[in-house]
Amino acid sequence: MSAKIEAIIDQVEERQEELINLLKTLISFETPAPPARNTKEAQEYVASLLEEMGFDIDMWDVYPNDPNIIGTLKGNQSNEYNSLIINGHIDVAEVNEDEEWETNPFNAVVRDGVVIGRGAADMKGGLAGALFAIQLLREAGIELPGDLIFQSVIGEEVGEAGTLQCCKRGSTADFAIVVDTSELHIQGQGGVITGWITIKSNQTYHDATRRNMIHAGGNLFAASAIEKMTKVIDGLQELERHWAITKSYPGVPPGANTINPAVIEGGRHAAFIADECRLWITVHFYPNETYEHVAKEVEEHILKIAEADIWLRENPPTFTWGGLR
Ligand SMILES: [Zn+2]
Repeated sequence: MSAKIEAIIDQVEERQEELINLLKTLISFETPAPPARNTKEAQEYVASLLEEMGFDIDMWDVYPNDPNIIGTLKGNQSNEYNSLIINGHIDVAEVNEDEEWETNPFNAVVRDGVVIGRGAADMKGGLAGALFAIQLLREAGIELPGDLIFQSVIGEEVGEAGTLQCCKRGSTADFAIVVDTSELHIQGQGGVITGWITIKSNQTYHDATRRNMIHAGGNLFAASAIEKMTKVIDGLQELERHWAITKSYPGVPPGANTINPAVIEGGRHAAFIADECRLWITVHFYPNETYEHVAKEVEEHILKIAEADIWLRENPPTFTWGGLR
C-alpha cells in the first residue's frame, strides 16, 4: 500500500469526530418516508458538499420536495479508466409513535461508541462515510483517473423510486457501490423485483351458491379466487426451493434468491364468494440473472400450475411487474 493511502487511512481514525459531525448533520434533516416529500434541504446540503469538492451537480425533483442528486467528478483520464457510481439514499424509515426513543431521533447522540439516531445505519452513515472518504482523497491531492458519480437518491423506503430515476436518466458506470447497511461484509446483490399475481373470476357469486360449486350435482363451474391462490402460493414455494438448490452465485449466500408472498388481498364481503385475489410478491435474484428472465420463470411456472387446475385453466392468473400497487 502506498504511503499516501496509508496516511489517508490514518486520518480516518484521527478525524473521526469530523465524520461523526457530518453524520449528525445529515440525521438532523428530518427525512422520514413515509410521509416523504421532505428531502429537499438535505439534498441541497449534500449537493453543496459535492460542489465544494468539484462535482458537477444534476438535481431534479422525482416528486415535489423530493429531489435526486447526481454529482459527477470527471476523471483526468476518463476515456481509459473505469467509472464508479456511489449510491446512497437520503430518506430514512418512518418514526412510529410506539417507538421508545429516549432522545429525539433526529438529534443524534454518541453512546458507547455508537451513533444513535434515525437513519444512522440505514443509511446516512453510509452517505457520510462516502462523502468523507472523497473529501480525504481530495485533500490529499489524489485525482481519480476515471469518473466518480455520486448519486444521493430519494424513495428507497418506498420502492427505490430515486435510483430507478437515475437509471432512466442514463446515469451509468462500470461499477457501483451502494453504501447501505452491510455490517461491513461485502454483499453481492443481483436484483429484486416485485409483482402482483391476480386471480379473477369473471362473475361474482353469492355465498349461498357455494354448495353448488363444490358439491355433487351442484352443476356450477365456479371457484373462490382466495382458495385458488393457495395453489399459486404452493407453486411459488416449490419454485423458490428449486432455485435455492439449483442456482448460486459467488459471494452471495445460497438460497438468497427468495420469493416472498408479501401481501395478499382478496374477497369483497362475507356474503359473497371471493371473486378476486391479489398476491404481491418480492423476488430476489442473482447478479447473472435479469429481471425479465426471472419474471418469465415465475410466470411460466405459475401458468403451468394453472394449466393443471380445472378452473384456473379457464381463468389463468395475470401478472403485473414492478413498482407499487
Ligand atoms: Zn437502506
